[in-house]
Amino acid sequence: MTNGEAALLAPAKDYNGLSDDAFRAEIREWIEHNYPPELRFPIERLHRAQTKIWYDRLAEKGWLAPAWPVEQGGMGLDANKRVVFIEELERHGCSRYNDQGVLMLGPLLMAYGTPEQQAYFLPKILTGEHIWAQGYSEPNSGSDLASLRTEALLDGEEWVINGQKIWTTLGNDANWIYVLVRTDKEAKKQQGISFLLVPMEAPGITVRPILTLGMSDEFCEVFFDNVRVPRDALVGQLNHGWTMAKALLGFERIFVGSPAQSAYALSRLETMARHLKLFDDSEFRSRHGRLVIDLADHVSLYSTYIDRLRRGETIGADVSMLKINQTELYKRIAQTMIDYADGYSGHDGLVEQLGGVQASAIWLQSLQTTIYGGTSEVQRDILAKQVLALPS
Ligand SMILES: Cc1cc2nc3c(=O)[nH]c(=O)nc-3n(C[C@H](O)[C@H](O)[C@H](O)COP(=O)(O)OP(=O)(O)OC[C@H]3O[C@@H](n4cnc5c(N)ncnc54)[C@H](O)[C@@H]3O)c2cc1C
Repeated sequence: MTNGEAALLAPAKDYNGLSDDAFRAEIREWIEHNYPPELRFPIERLHRAQTKIWYDRLAEKGWLAPAWPVEQGGMGLDANKRVVFIEELERHGCSRYNDQGVLMLGPLLMAYGTPEQQAYFLPKILTGEHIWAQGYSEPNSGSDLASLRTEALLDGEEWVINGQKIWTTLGNDANWIYVLVRTDKEAKKQQGISFLLVPMEAPGITVRPILTLGMSDEFCEVFFDNVRVPRDALVGQLNHGWTMAKALLGFERIFVGSPAQSAYALSRLETMARHLKLFDDSEFRSRHGRLVIDLADHVSLYSTYIDRLRRGETIGADVSMLKINQTELYKRIAQTMIDYADGYSGHDGLVEQLGGVQASAIWLQSLQTTIYGGTSEVQRDILAKQVLALPS
């Protein structure tokens, strides 16, 4: 029996019945004993080969899917306990694993999938047999995702898919991909899109890794050349893929605004500053002081959203403010590192000169954050239109 299968059979514990403190203590102790120490606070997105051990341990414990209902093999945590769980993972510096199945596809199947799709796919996410990637973005459809052109045409009992996806995170680790495809070219652009499940081993799929500036192959291009999948690879109603995909962006969006990344980067900046004796420099002290204050402000802003989650309130479009604030602060901290790195990039052999701080790797990672999950410009657009009701 595999780890995830064992978890599915184990009697579920009522974590919601514990006090927050008791729950936090249990989670914290287990993470400290089970999270591989060498993977703490990774400075790049780790691959399946590195994080499989963590995925398997969470699966074995039955903690892989905190938000899923107990009947589906999850922990069934309420919003409050989910916040505690995520806070503890972040506090310890736990890496993300290949989580598209757990975070995105699983909840989508529970909401819109057929009983057969749920019975087949959900357990395989929990066992790690299926590792999923997200195939949304295309070369000319990122922010304007609804303009996507990868198309699927029904041919008898099969969909035939042609087109290209890009920026597919860890697409080279995945054996399944969920894709948004155009199934009606005549409809308004948001209305002619459907959601399909595709095995990566299907003939006609080519996966080509893209190297980032940090020389990491965490992204891929995925090409579809007459790829055939059965008719029942469709999730939900035909041409309703857009609405489904959008409906699921709720809870986790807040955590893109978590101060964890900025707090970690600031602590690394301080390590570097002590090593280089930068606190003797009044200009540095002034920049550092500004960052400390801005981080404290952000922590305070973040906690207002967490409180709203705990009270079970829905989070509105104003959550864009949280993402902008966190990611731009993170970039400013990382830029300060580079400005004071004294000629050392911090890469490879040069980190010793910076007190062991990989300044350029943190800087490169910070650059991505104002792009993924909706760029800063797009988030500002949302705030302008949906929160401030400014004219277009
Ligand atoms: C780390 C990372 C992981 C990702 N993982 C995935 C993944 O797994 N699967 C997936 O499908 N995609 C993924 N993406 C892609 C991501 O969703 C897109 O990069 C993002 O939506 C932006 O699209 P784009 O890159 O095409 O840029 P574009 O949309 O072309 O934007 C280019 C520039 O124009 C600006 N712009 C665009 N529209 C407007 C507007 N209306 N008003 C003002 N400014 C505008 C943008 O802000 C940006 O500065 C990932 C991206 C990153 C960085």
